[in-house]
Amino acid sequence: MNPPADHHSVRRVTLPSGKTIEVLYLDGLVHEHVRGLHVCPGCESELVNPVAWDEAGPAHWDVTLHCPNCDWLGGGVFTEQLVEEFDEELDRGTEALVRDLQRLMRANMEDEIARFVTELAADQIWPMDF
Ligand SMILES: [Zn+2]
Repeated sequence: MNPPADHHSVRRVTLPSGKTIEVLYLDGLVHEHVRGLHVCPGCESELVNPVAWDEAGPAHWDVTLHCPNCDWLGGGVFTEQLVEEFDEELDRGTEALVRDLQRLMRANMEDEIARFVTELAADQIWPMDF
């Protein structure tokens, strides 16, 4: 197979289920993705992570993707715009994770304090514990 080097196009296909799929044809490579790179085509999890990426031209990236939920491994050549959207999505995901972690840490600390106060009140902490 020897397609012309500059032959690429994106086609939007709407499935009977209502999903829109973008199919990117680039140098003979065909890749399908649904909605965004962060969405797993296997299980629809939105936790897909990039494992590796390489420049595949001035406006394209060759990205290897992994889904931690179902262990799907895939990838393809994507437009720079799509990769940037993915990057923003990852940033949002990281921010949400950090927020969750901070909430969790605060909750843990409150638990510890509550337990300490309960033990104090129950007179379970003796001077020899210190
Ligand atoms: Zn998955």
